[in-house]
Amino acid sequence: MSYTVALTGGIGSGKSTVANAFARHGVEIIDADVIARQVVEPGQPALKEIATRFGSAILHTDGTLNRAALRQTIFSSPADKAWLNQLLHPLIHAETRRQLKAARSPWCLWVVPLLVENQLEKQADRVLVVDVDPAVQIERTMARDRISREQAEKIIAAQATRAARLAVADDIIENSGHPSEVLPLVAKLNQRYLALAKATKQD
Ligand code: ADP
Repeated sequence: MSYTVALTGGIGSGKSTVANAFARHGVEIIDADVIARQVVEPGQPALKEIATRFGSAILHTDGTLNRAALRQTIFSSPADKAWLNQLLHPLIHAETRRQLKAARSPWCLWVVPLLVENQLEKQADRVLVVDVDPAVQIERTMARDRISREQAEKIIAAQATRAARLAVADDIIENSGHPSEVLPLVAKLNQRYLALAKATKQD
């Protein structure tokens, strides 16, 4: 299994932007959001179980999961939410391990928006946090997702705090400035992680 660096940060902090910059150095990216969608794709056993529990109204007419309907259902029922988590977490965990094992680059970047919320920091060899000034985070989220300030603030308030994320960080990329400013930081961190991966392998 490759040396694993978890990348996290709040909404709109620049995780995707930073991940893309690492990918250009040949680093393989494992994306927790992609995995969370993969385990409930049509044909996956989990989707069948979800449809059995909640009825076919939880599916779109093409058989894919109606995420909005599911979100609504679990929002109003803690028991359903717990059931869903118990179903999905082991599947997500297993698929994540599989992808990390299959990775061929000397180290790989595991992008996990909810690393702190789901207490996953111990699953990685190292934690990299993308940090931005909250005012900048709100502006960028509003612009990217075309949502109001109020909506952006609400999403941010529901996430882990900036302090909680920084508390688990081994490394921090400060992304409040121009996008080009992160590129040398990414290049430097790539060198550091290559060295750490090599040292770990020799142990
Ligand atoms: P995340 O994946 O953490 O939600 P993104 O990487 O999508 O965040 O960045 C949020 C938005 O801000 C995107 O529209 C992105 O293009 C933009 N962005 C990211 N970094 C910068 C930067 N340094 N300067 C200006 N805009 C940025």
